[in-house]
Amino acid sequence: PIGPRSCYDEGKRCAETLFFDYHRQHDLEIKVMRIFNTYGPRMHPNDGRVVSNFIVQALRGEPITIYGDGSQTRSFCYVDDLVEGMIRLMDSPKELTGPVNIGNPGEFTIRQLAERVIALTGSSSKLIANPLPADDPKQRKPDITLARAKLGWEPTIALDAGLKKTIAYFEALLKEGTSSRRNG
Ligand code: UDP
Repeated sequence: PIGPRSCYDEGKRCAETLFFDYHRQHDLEIKVMRIFNTYGPRMHPNDGRVVSNFIVQALRGEPITIYGDGSQTRSFCYVDDLVEGMIRLMDSPKELTGPVNIGNPGEFTIRQLAERVIALTGSSSKLIANPLPADDPKQRKPDITLARAKLGWEPTIALDAGLKKTIAYFEALLKEGTSSRRNG
């Protein structure tokens, strides 16, 4: 409970506990969705998440910072797919409380993600190894069986397609940043 990532882990557990207590004690209608790694346009360039970091670094020609050896895996869900899952869950019958996993089961190593970003941006950035943060999970991949069965939902946007849209967003954002600095 006191590690550097514990606020996320414990915060989510505590929220689910409170939701289910309100549901049992007060018959409050609840929906519990477990969100896996999500990316897309409108991420903050300094957010520190891996997809935004890699794209911004690639577009600026800066080194791509791989934490650890890059063999850890994540499953990246494009934001439009995630929002569709959210809406379907909110519109589902009262009895469906969840927890329901919403995420993209396509699993990639962080090194593979870096290589995709370099290929899609045409960047000449090199990969560099940085220390692995404490408690960094080795693998993440949602089991979306329940979402498929109860919501008829599954992701529709493959990683490359989602990365292209996200790269276009950051390209425009970085251009805007340069021109407003030049003007200001
Ligand atoms: N990561 C990385 N370089 C970065 C940012 C993140 O290698 O510049 C790694 C991080 O160590 C983790 C993965 O990418 O293994 C996903 O990190 P993020 O913070 O995006 O999400 P989370 O760790 O919450 O899944």
